[in-house]
Amino acid sequence: MTATVIRNAEWVVAWDDEEDCHIYLHGCDVAWQDGALIHIGGRYEGGAAEEISGHGRMVIPGLVNLHTHTSTMPVFKSVREEIGNPQLYLSALYDGWNLFTPAAEDKFWASRYAYGEMLLSGVTSYVDMCFPYPGWVDAAAESGLRAFLSPLYQSASWRTDNGHELLYDWKDDDGHADMEESVGVIDAAITHPSGMLDAVVSPMAIDTCSLALIHESYALARERGLPFQLHCGEAMMEFLEITRRHGVSQVQLLARERLLGPDVTLGHGLFLDHHSWLHWSTRADIGLLADHGVSVAHCPTPFSRYGITLEHFGRYLEEGVVLGIGTDTHPHNMLEEMRTAAIMGRVAAENMHAVSTANIFNAATVGGAHALKRGDIGRLQVGAKADLVSVALDDPTMMPVYDPLRSLIYTAADRAVRDVWIDGRQCVADGKVTTLDMEDIASNLQEVQIRALEKVPQRDRLGRNALQVAPLTFRSRRQH
Ligand SMILES: [Zn+2]
Repeated sequence: MTATVIRNAEWVVAWDDEEDCHIYLHGCDVAWQDGALIHIGGRYEGGAAEEISGHGRMVIPGLVNLHTHTSTMPVFKSVREEIGNPQLYLSALYDGWNLFTPAAEDKFWASRYAYGEMLLSGVTSYVDMCFPYPGWVDAAAESGLRAFLSPLYQSASWRTDNGHELLYDWKDDDGHADMEESVGVIDAAITHPSGMLDAVVSPMAIDTCSLALIHESYALARERGLPFQLHCGEAMMEFLEITRRHGVSQVQLLARERLLGPDVTLGHGLFLDHHSWLHWSTRADIGLLADHGVSVAHCPTPFSRYGITLEHFGRYLEEGVVLGIGTDTHPHNMLEEMRTAAIMGRVAAENMHAVSTANIFNAATVGGAHALKRGDIGRLQVGAKADLVSVALDDPTMMPVYDPLRSLIYTAADRAVRDVWIDGRQCVADGKVTTLDMEDIASNLQEVQIRALEKVPQRDRLGRNALQVAPLTFRSRRQH
């Protein structure tokens, strides 16, 4: 008898088979065994090895984080939030990215820190988009998260010599050696003995990969039955570069090349032909995405820091695009990301009714699951994976509770997350990560950031140090 049961949870966000949507259940038992849910409803009469009280708790499906870069982003915390190049449409991609990147042997600490942040905010599945580094696969498995490793590779890297002209350094082999290395990581993930790792085929971006490399990658994804994710619609400069090269928008190029389909997710999908910054002559892109069943991994936080937003969440949904949510950058706090998605969606639409809490919760659960071609995650349904999160309704940040998802998303966020199970295994207990030593990881991450910042003068095209590139909030004076 190895079943575990949560008894009499006050609220449960369960999947309704007939209505095919999430609903609230009250006074509900939730039971699982061997990594799968076996009961959601009234009293569970089967035997259970472990019984957990659901008093004062809401149980929700584990969240699906559709877009992250764990090996670098935690190192950028408190450094990169206010860096953006005004001569390249405020993007920090081109001369800000490599300045602070940690050494390959340090990336392990950054990823593990991000895994901890995700667990604490109720994430149970995530897409991990990293350039491969030693130790990555084992670090992902150690966290207990359901990982979709998404090893990046590209034909060219970005460069600017003068700060206002974007250049591309094309590799002699068009990125094939790097793609081969990434296929090795995909194989290692899929065959990993933990059974918790899966993979996504991810050429880096539509402007840094040749069309030949994107075609080859999509063919690989289809042959292996894997999802495919590509950065597209991420930056103004990318739109300008693709229209310069091909005369059409990125999405129209992908459609022309037959590179759109229900197995495709666009990372960001923000600067499409309708976006108000572009004043482009067509309005076809959102419709093309919907017609081909394409998903968009929406990551509002980094863009909102630059003053940029998707235009807009409700419109994409209304036209039939599948939306998932990703944290992309730090913090990897999925619940705060959901709040930002709701608020930015309403601001961009100039209409609070353009996006509902249900829309946001769906995107963060079944939307992301759909993009990953998985019907067994992002929902609490008998037969689905036992990926679930217990939220404390009696945490002061949740109270008073009228609608618990609203309390969670608009106020409490990760502060009310108490327990997380993934594949039936408890990875967060009473608000603490059980699979990772977060204090040890955080103190190592501090050292990693110091080492990365020391390298800034050698990497900056003007030889500036970190304080010159990223000035502190206030002028500072030492008193001792
Ligand atoms: Zn990204």
